[in-house]
Amino acid sequence: MFEIGNKYTKRDIYKILDVPPERQRGAWDKGYREYEGNYFIFSNVGIPGRTGHDYNNYWDGDLFVWEGATTSHLKQPQIDAMLHPAEEQKIFLFTRTEDKAPFVFEGNVVAKEYQNTTPVKVVWKFENYPYNLLEEPTYSGLSKNTHLREGTTSKISVNKYERNPLARRMCIAYHGALCKVCQFDFYLIYGDIGKGYIHVHHIIPISSIGKEYVFNPEQDLIPVCPNCHSIIHKRKPIFSIEELKGIVEERRITCRS
Ligand SMILES: [Zn+2]
Ligand SMILES: [Zn+2]
Repeated sequence: MFEIGNKYTKRDIYKILDVPPERQRGAWDKGYREYEGNYFIFSNVGIPGRTGHDYNNYWDGDLFVWEGATTSHLKQPQIDAMLHPAEEQKIFLFTRTEDKAPFVFEGNVVAKEYQNTTPVKVVWKFENYPYNLLEEPTYSGLSKNTHLREGTTSKISVNKYERNPLARRMCIAYHGALCKVCQFDFYLIYGDIGKGYIHVHHIIPISSIGKEYVFNPEQDLIPVCPNCHSIIHKRKPIFSIEELKGIVEERRITCRS
């Protein structure tokens, strides 16, 4: 129904779910709503909500820490239902990091833990994880989803493994957010606005991916800064991390002496 990593406006969502006009807006503009037995969470991450109140929603590795509406509590039927869904009920998590921007569909989640506070605080984890990642389509599906991302120095072709938000977070949670080639640290240079910012590079050449390829976000993705990412893709075949790292380290020694 929704593809992980794709962006959707509310209008797109109404269309996909076939929501009649009289049932649009309203509760859809709050942070979460039930529709035909499923739940939809719309969450700003790292930006204050409409009321100026920062809901304090953030990623902790591949877990999503989330606060309900200001007055929410555990006994509210909707909150209770979201925390204890029936087997056929799904919770769809949408997030955005920019106000008024379309939402990114992150995946289906289930509550891992929750706090009996007002507002309610819930830690969501991805359902069926990691099987949904291991079942990524193979080569033919990959080329279809390849799109271009603006790098700082050139355009880089980013495949679906590199833009899958869950895979990205797992890669960064495992490796950290430093560039593995030049050690560039966005937080060190830019402070809070650069925190967690990094590209991830898929180190398996797409041409070598066969039908049996099983994707592992910790081993197959590596964090790199946009500059190193551009240089990696400057040559065909692409540079390996070790090779480019060797070049950069040697240049540093030479430049210093
Ligand atoms: Zn770098
Ligand atoms: Zn890459």
